[in-house]
Amino acid sequence: YISATNIYEHPKYPRVYVVELEDGSSRLATKNLVPGKRVYGEHLFKWSDGEYREWNAYRSKLAGALVKGLKELPIKEGQKILYLGAGSGTTASHISDIIGLKGMIFAVEFAPRVMRELIVVADDRPNIVPILEDARFPMRYRMVVEEVDGLYADIAQPEQASIVADNADMFLKNGGWLLLAIKARSIDVTAEPSDVYKKEIETLTRRGFEIVDVVHLEPFDKDHAMVYAIYRK
Ligand code: SAM
Repeated sequence: YISATNIYEHPKYPRVYVVELEDGSSRLATKNLVPGKRVYGEHLFKWSDGEYREWNAYRSKLAGALVKGLKELPIKEGQKILYLGAGSGTTASHISDIIGLKGMIFAVEFAPRVMRELIVVADDRPNIVPILEDARFPMRYRMVVEEVDGLYADIAQPEQASIVADNADMFLKNGGWLLLAIKARSIDVTAEPSDVYKKEIETLTRRGFEIVDVVHLEPFDKDHAMVYAIYRK
């Protein structure tokens, strides 16, 4: 344990916390739904009202987006969320802390090796439903996933925006939110990041998303930006 000198709710992002450390630095955190358990080697902080887990902006693009000042955090307690590309559950675990036991994450991941780690996380967290499927084929999991308040996508695929829109058509409610991690840099280092993701943004707009905010994730992640949008069916 490193000890915290103060922990308080983030002034802009409800159910996200700021942990102040002895050296004067501060970190983001969420309140641990499963006290005593770590998911990816993160620091745990004991406080008078429970235990908090450091939310590392270098490991989670969503934490990076918050540190970089995303306009607001649309994820709220009790929400149902479809997560495409959940990986081993690093970010999903923090979303699980935020939505609490009344919420639900439908976590789609198609790599079996990664899925094994996600299942370990979901074993402790009843608000994560792991789904071993390919996000390109939402029909295959339509019987498992309910209508959702939000869609979080981090699948690192070329046709990501259209995959996201296909999933939104099937599962996202009217007025629901989208958080999408998109590649902000191509192999061609001379191309402007804006050229690289312009096409994805255009696809989103054409498919009914209103873009609310885009934040670049450097220095936490040099290659990505986070898009926040609202869906109008
Ligand atoms: N979002 C995770 C986090 O923040 O903890 C990291 C996700 S990683 C960057 C991208 C993941 O998407 C990989 O685990 C990969 O296997 C998965 N993925 C890529 N294409 C996919 C697809 N078509 N369907 C489901 N999962 C996919």
